[in-house]
Amino acid sequence: MIQGKFQGRKVWKDILNSMVDALRTAKALGAETVGVNAEDASRTEVERLIEFAQAGKENGAERFRYCDTLGADDPITIYQRIRQIADATKFPVEMHCHNDLGMAEAVSLTGAQGAIEAGVDSYINTTINGYGERAGNCDLVSTILALKFSHGYANKANLDEHIDLKKSWRMARYASYAFGLPIPISQVGVGANAFAHESGIHADGALKDRRNYELYDPEEVGRGEPELCETGRMITTGEYGGLKGFMHVYDKLGIHFKDEKEARNILELVQYANLHTQKPLTDDELKLVAKHPELVRQILTVTP
Ligand SMILES: [Zn+2]
Repeated sequence: MIQGKFQGRKVWKDILNSMVDALRTAKALGAETVGVNAEDASRTEVERLIEFAQAGKENGAERFRYCDTLGADDPITIYQRIRQIADATKFPVEMHCHNDLGMAEAVSLTGAQGAIEAGVDSYINTTINGYGERAGNCDLVSTILALKFSHGYANKANLDEHIDLKKSWRMARYASYAFGLPIPISQVGVGANAFAHESGIHADGALKDRRNYELYDPEEVGRGEPELCETGRMITTGEYGGLKGFMHVYDKLGIHFKDEKEARNILELVQYANLHTQKPLTDDELKLVAKHPELVRQILTVTP
């Protein structure tokens, strides 16, 4: 790969030296945590990766980052490779995997397992909804669900108590909204179809007992709260009832209007914003409108 990417301008020792130089510079300038990043690690010989990680360790880095840049690793191979690297270096390994073969979560988890079984810490890079280059990166929610519910990991992984899967649904929707990218209907946990049952046998079974056809509950990933959709509908009606509902939504956000006049003023701005984006406003956007109405009015009435 070095030949392919650098066309003869760099050889292995150059790569190693530039990593060490950059690492020393970062440390000299006070960086507390530095990971040494091996792009295309999955297409690099293990011996070289060990040399690279070892050089990082000896020069003060905190961990080694293994990139499956093309998404070509498989769970068994990556486990063996990471195990070998971690056994040889006793240095924490960070997993960075892509989804070109639909295995980003699987390879991230088995890679991390290899590191942990070698007695070192492991970190997994994830993104919301798996968004990322090409077919995407390792998805955050799927990874946590796998640690919590898969046959192999459910009993092994000690999830931090601060991990709150109930935020998944809102977070996934927000990322989708912010990026302007839809959530695939079959997206793990948060896709529209993740808890849909159609075939007669499945639907009947799921209705009798969720566990017949569902590994985990929709509530587990924060679904079942129609808050955002409802907000959108109430706000766009603008009727008197709409105002009451609107104030109720703000009450829930901890924002209380001093009278209906003030509420109506904010409602009007929210309606404009809603019309402009053609999307329900998020909680943060609703808060922004209420806290800085004049600023929002200015933004919404700017004429080119
Ligand atoms: Zn990448």
